[in-house]
Amino acid sequence: MKLTFKPYTLELEHLFTIAKSSRTTTPVILTEIEFEGIVGHGEASMPPYLGENQETAVAFLSKVNLEQFKDPFDMENILNYVDSIAEKNSAAKASVDIALHDLVGKLLKKPWYAIWGFDRDKAPYTDFTIGIDTPEVVKQKVKEAEIYKILKVKLGSEDDKKLIEVIRSITDKPIRVDANQGWKDKHYALDLINWLKERNVEIVEQPMPKEMLDDMAWITERSPLPIIGDESVQRLPDVIKVHGVFDGINIKLMKSTGLREAHKMLLLARSLGMKVMLGCMTETSCGISAASQLSPMVDWADLDGNLLIKNDPYRGTKVLNGKLVLTDTPGIGLV
Ligand code: MG
Repeated sequence: MKLTFKPYTLELEHLFTIAKSSRTTTPVILTEIEFEGIVGHGEASMPPYLGENQETAVAFLSKVNLEQFKDPFDMENILNYVDSIAEKNSAAKASVDIALHDLVGKLLKKPWYAIWGFDRDKAPYTDFTIGIDTPEVVKQKVKEAEIYKILKVKLGSEDDKKLIEVIRSITDKPIRVDANQGWKDKHYALDLINWLKERNVEIVEQPMPKEMLDDMAWITERSPLPIIGDESVQRLPDVIKVHGVFDGINIKLMKSTGLREAHKMLLLARSLGMKVMLGCMTETSCGISAASQLSPMVDWADLDGNLLIKNDPYRGTKVLNGKLVLTDTPGIGLV
């Protein structure tokens, strides 16, 4: 097996602002694993605030030697080896994991949701994300999101109530709120969550800084809405750590090191009675289509990362009238 990779820069449709930063591009690395003439595709997406970049990913991937493995189906050994090369580097690891899953699915001639035994008719609707912006731009973005049944709104600025009121002046669609660790006080957060509940908000993601687990457990206990952990939950052991802190977790391939561990996190969270959201970074259709393979088993999908970019080099799982549509295409579903 041979691994190759190249840096690529995603151009965003809009300046994208969340509680901690703004940007117009996102760096990614596109990977390929070739075996006997068949190619699997993968991706590492690295928004700047997560600590990885194209240089760190290239340095990591340069150390990965897949030529020592003769059988792509030896997935646990291959991916344990990749994970053991260095700590962190979650997105770089995910780019190998996704390409390997794509390759193995193609060799089996099956899409991954079918290999795992999931019912594709249960694939959920995805929400569409509205970043923090001026009232005029927010209204424009809500209009552009016409086909999506659910909006995701990034809060965590001074103007949270104003932003929700602007959206509510033009639509009654359900809203999912992501505070991205932006609220600093648990009483303030709980008051705001009660206010949001009255405005048809469904769930609230990561209300406070990721290490403030006691405060978030306090909020979850009292909140009228489900509270979901995102930044507090990266990999498999974190699911145990946040059991009892949040009602559910947000699984993303770029945090979990890819599909193998995301699948384990999904099953573990389910066995603990926790809700599951499936999220993404700004990614091409490669990462999104890979994540969508897990979607029949989740409560909420937030897989709009490819819809926010202008130069997507791939085509994969599509969104039809807001719903993810999984196809028979083998592997991670790229066409
Ligand atoms: Mg989030």
